[in-house]
This record gives sequence, structure tokens and C-alpha cells, in this order.
Amino acid sequence: MGLIVQKYGGTSVATVERIQAVAQRIVATVEQGHGVVVVVSAMGRTTDELLGLAKAVTPDPPARELDMLLATGEQVSIAVVALALCALGQPAISLTGTQIGVITEADHGRARILHIPTDRILQELELGKVVVVAGFQGISSSRTLEITTLGRGGSDTSAVAVAAALGADACEIYTDVPGILTTDPRVVPEAQVLTQVTCEEMLELASLGAKVLHPRAVEIARNFGVPVVVRSSWTAEPGTRLLTPQRRTVPNRDLEVSRLVDGVELDDQQAKLALCNVPDRPGMAAELFGALAQAGVNVDLIIQSIQAGATNDIAFTVQRTAVEKTERLVRDLIPAWGEAVTCAVSSDMAKVSIVGAGMVGRPGVAATMFSALGEAGINIDLISTSEIKVSCLVDLTQATQAVRVLSSSFKVPVLPTPPETGGMMPVRGAALDDQQARLAIQRVPDRPGAAAGLFLALAQARVSVDMIIQSERVTWVQERPTRDIAFTIHQDDVELARHALDTALAKLACGTLTIDREIAKVSVVGSGMVRQAGVAARMFASLGQAGINIYMIATSEIKISCLVPRMVGKQALKRIHQGFALDQL
Ligand code: ADP
Ligand code: ASP
Ligand code: MG
Repeated sequence: MGLIVQKYGGTSVATVERIQAVAQRIVATVEQGHGVVVVVSAMGRTTDELLGLAKAVTPDPPARELDMLLATGEQVSIAVVALALCALGQPAISLTGTQIGVITEADHGRARILHIPTDRILQELELGKVVVVAGFQGISSSRTLEITTLGRGGSDTSAVAVAAALGADACEIYTDVPGILTTDPRVVPEAQVLTQVTCEEMLELASLGAKVLHPRAVEIARNFGVPVVVRSSWTAEPGTRLLTPQRRTVPNRDLEVSRLVDGVELDDQQAKLALCNVPDRPGMAAELFGALAQAGVNVDLIIQSIQAGATNDIAFTVQRTAVEKTERLVRDLIPAWGEAVTCAVSSDMAKVSIVGAGMVGRPGVAATMFSALGEAGINIDLISTSEIKVSCLVDLTQATQAVRVLSSSFKVPVLPTPPETGGMMPVRGAALDDQQARLAIQRVPDRPGAAAGLFLALAQARVSVDMIIQSERVTWVQERPTRDIAFTIHQDDVELARHALDTALAKLACGTLTIDREIAKVSVVGSGMVRQAGVAARMFASLGQAGINIYMIATSEIKISCLVPRMVGKQALKRIHQGFALDQL
């Protein structure tokens, strides 16, 4: 006999029939002898409708009142689920976040959970009841009882946090698909169910557009070793298991706001090749990285920045030992691309990274890193971001200093270089995010700290930035070097960002800002892609063969993302899914 937390998402409780089916499943679990705590979302599209209601009254509803409104969705569904259980003769009690006393930050609309008292839940379980808990909501303090919500999709986070706090034996996330699939089955019907997935992979997939599991839920599962399964509420299939570490007890405070960064990593064996003026047409990246893959060259970071006229810059890194071979291969290729194409090689580079699950969804961690480096006079050459890691390529001569600066500013140790993870499938899943916009700032002074200023301004405005790319090409303005910086953000944040940047740009006396909403981001994720030649080439080839032009490229150790025209986003996802034979698992 164990304690099981079951979470049912919006579609699983959308209608009376669905709620009755859910109630039967809960009763069946109780009959197996388990104590059951149920976490539910609002019914169907209730949250969207409530948001629509608020926006119909005012275009910019205050966050506090919005939380008050949105939290009602879950209050309805917990009561109806409890009623359905009672109708089946199963004693049940519904509890709101306030009644349990789920304490969160005061940050309306995106609050993080600080503490979940378990006494009330345990009391009710003792009485033989199923406890039905409202997901997505909490209160900012036990004194004022201000209602907060966790952010869209946040019921997953509530469920895993409740499971962590209770030390539950399992947390089952029931949804409208049979588990975590290789990609969104609504876009690619051939998507296959994964039997298991690592937390790192799921964190990336979740934040790159796979909304099947909220990234913060994964972060909690990873931090406290909560056993999580994602399954269909329609069938009895086993679903997908999240591979979580050993169980850890939850402290009485700061449940979701543990340390932002765990440590600093250094790879001092990097070399960079930077190509400028590469013709901007489909298939170029595939040609370049295909040739390198064929020769067995393992490429680490790849960055293609925003195009200038009809050309692109592509920069990438390899291990220093491979630099000569790589340069030869590149020099053989580029004459065919036109006279303007140049290749510059910097053999002595280092990659410094900050790592930690605490940075998930936190604007500002990357900005803090950039400004710490900037203040120490260390220039950042390339940037690569993933959900739990931000890496900067710096000059080898400044590597030790960079590590020291980061270690002291985040107050964390230097970690040993992680072991190579081989053997697993290099690519496990693909994702599409067509809710993003690309912002490009032209002519940012190329000096330490300039970029940091911009990203700090965005962080202060609470805008989460993704896919940050700095151009290789340098434009001289009044005898000073400048570069272009492009990044992506959520479309909803565009106005906030524009406002924050206007002031920052005026201060820097630089840059023109352009905003492009006609983009989509397609990504592949897999922890087995580290140090495997040819993964990127295969992705670019899938897009190239479909005639899809790549606007920007950014990679981390476990993901490759490409920006493509929004119009062909879905097609791009289908192509890469097929290109990696993910439909044939
Ligand atoms: P719930 O209401 O149960 O929380 P969501 O709508 O939030 O459900 O998430 C489930 C949806 O996530 C699925 O219907 C599917 O369209 C989408 N999805 C996107 N990527 C994936 C993926 N890789 N695996 C499974 N589902 C995915
Ligand atoms: N009802 C909330 C939403 O729609 C929370 C959730 O479903 O997870 O975002
Ligand atoms: Mg959801």
C-alpha cells in the first residue's frame, strides 16, 4: 500500500463524462489499497476563457485580480471531481491552495512554490478520504491570504510539488496523450511514445515547446527525486517514466527556489571557426556540417546569427585537436560559395558554463553571468544557452579568471567536466515553438558588459530570453567595433521587452531594434548527442532537402535549435522528425 498523487489536466476533466471516468480511475486506485491525492486543472479551456473575460474588460489586467479570477477555474473542477467521487460512494474532500496553505512567492501569475504544509492533507487521508487539491494556485502569505497562480500549465508543478512534500510513492500525470512522445502528436501523427526520458531531456523538450509537462514540474522532480509517470487518462497504457535521481526530503521552505546555480564548468580545449558572408540559401548549413560529419569531425557549439543582406555568419567550435583538419575541410568547401566568404580560426578558446536546475524559467541568471564577466573585463565570444546551462566562449588566456569570477559571484564550486554520456539515442525528441518573436539589435558596441546591460534590462522587466546570438561580423561605427545581437522571447513579452530595451539602448547610445514575429523555432533534444558527429548535419539536411531556409542556429550540448519561417514551422518539425527516424522507434 502506498501514497499516490494523480494529476488530471484540463482535457481529462473537460466534461461530466470525462470527470466520471476520472473518478472511476481514482476509485480503482483506492481499491488497490493506495492512499490517493488528486491534483486537478480547470475544466477544458476554462483558464483561456477566464483570461478572455479579463481582457474583454481591460487590455492590461492587473496581475493580482487576474490571479483571483483564474484561480476560480480550479476551484470549480476540484468540487466537481469530489462530487463525482462521492457519487461513486468514495469519500472525498476538495481543498483549494488557500485551505492547504500552499505558500508561494508574491509574484502574481508566475509564483514559485515555497512551502506545502501536509498536515491537512494527511489528516483527511487518515479519515479514508481521497483529497482533491486545486492545482495552479497558492497564497503569497498565510497572513494576507493573497491568491497567486503559478503560470500557465502550472498544475503539473503543483502535482509534483505535492508529491515531493508528501514523499509520495508515485506522481502520475494524466493527460490527453499516451505519454511523452517524440514530438507533438497533434502536428506529427507518427510521433512515438517514449518509455522513459531523462530530466535533462524533458526540461529541454518542455521549454522548447512540448507542453505535455511543465518545466518547473520537471525541475522539482529532479531536485527531490520524485518518481513521475506521464500517461493517458483514456487508456491503461504504462506511459512514460521520467528518470529521476534518488529521493531527497523537501525542506520546510524555498521548495521551488533552491540555489539558482550549482556550479561552474570549464572546457579549455575549444577552438572556434567563424565563417562570414555565407550565402543565405537553404542547404548551406547542411553542406558545411555534412562534410564535417562525413570526415568524423565532432562539432560542439554551432551559432548562426541573424543574416546581413543576403549572407549569414556561421561560427562553431571543435576540440582543439581537430582544428587543423576542420580548417582544411572548410577551406576546401568555401571557394564554391563565392569570393566573399571568409573563415577565421581561433585555436585557443575556452568554454565556461554555469549549470543548475534552479535557473529554469528564471530570467536574469544569464544576464548576471554576462555582467559578472563584463565587469571583469572578459569579452564573450559566443553564447549558448540551455534550460540548465549557460555557456560562454572566451579567450583561453582569460579562462581561469572567468571561472574564478563566476564561482565567486554565484558562490558555487567549480565542477569537474561532466563525463561523456554515450550509448543512448542521439536524438530523443523534437519540438516546435511558434509562439516566439525574434528581436535583433544592430550595432551593439563590442566591449565587455555591453550585452550584459541589455539582458539585465530585460531581466528587470521579467522577460525570459532564449536563443541569444551575437554576430561574428563586426561593423565599425565611428571607429569602434560593433556586433549584432539577436534573441528570441515569447510573443506576449514583446511590448515589455521593447519598452525595457528603448531605455537601455538609449543609455548605450547604440543599436536599432527590429522585431520579427514571423518565425518559428524547431529543435531536437537528446543527451546522447554530446560528442557525436553528424547530429546537427542531419537536422540541417532534413530542413535543406525540404527547401526550408534557416534564419538562425543555436545549440547546447543536448539540443539543436533552428529558427525558420513561421509559415513552414510545422513542415519543418515533420521533416526533422522523419529525418531522425523518430517515427520508427
Ligand atoms: P493537460 O491539460 O493534460 O495538462 P496539455 O495540453 O497541457 O495537457 O499538454 C498535453 C499536450 O501536449 C498534448 O495534447 C500534445 O498536443 C502536447 N505535446 C507537445 N509536445 C508533446 C510531446 N513531445 N509529447 C506529448 N505531448 C506533447
Ligand atoms: N488551468 C491552468 C492552465 O490552463 C493550469 C494547468 O492547466 O496546468 O494553464
Ligand atoms: Mg498542461
